[in-house]
Amino acid sequence: MILFLDLDDTLIPSTQAYDHGMRTLGIEPSDETYLRARAQVKALCPPGYPASRSRRLYFKRYLELAGQFSPLRHSEMVEVYENAVSSFVSKAWHDLGRPRLLKELRLRARKIGLVTNETLAAQVSKLRGLDPDWKLFDFMITSEEAGVEKPHPRIFERALELAAAHPTEVLMVGDNPKMDIEGARAMGFKAVLCTEFLRPKDLPPGPVLGKLDELPNHIDQLNSERSEF
Ligand SMILES: [Mg+2]
Repeated sequence: MILFLDLDDTLIPSTQAYDHGMRTLGIEPSDETYLRARAQVKALCPPGYPASRSRRLYFKRYLELAGQFSPLRHSEMVEVYENAVSSFVSKAWHDLGRPRLLKELRLRARKIGLVTNETLAAQVSKLRGLDPDWKLFDFMITSEEAGVEKPHPRIFERALELAAAHPTEVLMVGDNPKMDIEGARAMGFKAVLCTEFLRPKDLPPGPVLGKLDELPNHIDQLNSERSEF
């Protein structure tokens, strides 16, 4: 079995971490100027453009709107924010017992990879606090590298190449019904939603994990139903 994992709000509580990062900068996540900056960045980007998620772009526009942009100010803001997010997710990672869970998954999966809609810089900044020596995962593909976001098939196809896997071997785990679950099923993967950190209004059909810690049991159940898994 090959495991494709979403990172944000599946393995780690990213939404909480982003809010913590903003407050460390002294900006409430609901700050009007910040939200305006973000909306303006997103409005300029084509739909599904991976860098439209980049806080670096939002911070530049935020500083421009406040009449305070300078390269020094911007890089300081990015550094404070990314350090706060990284330390928040690192603490959560250990508090949640994720290293132990990854060991359990390693016993069941031939390959474990991250398939994630974000910029590479943002994900590396988080992962340096989770798996700095890259011992827990076999590969990662970000939407920035693929040029498209989940549920676009191209990012999943790239993940298949990196894993040297056939679609019927894959189990995708994520928190987003459309990007993670529908996208994966359209590729012929198995998929399971995890609602540990975010619970969508409408649950998709099929299995749902309330906590990611339930994943090893879910895999054992799939294995007992299907010999090739
Ligand atoms: Mg996610």
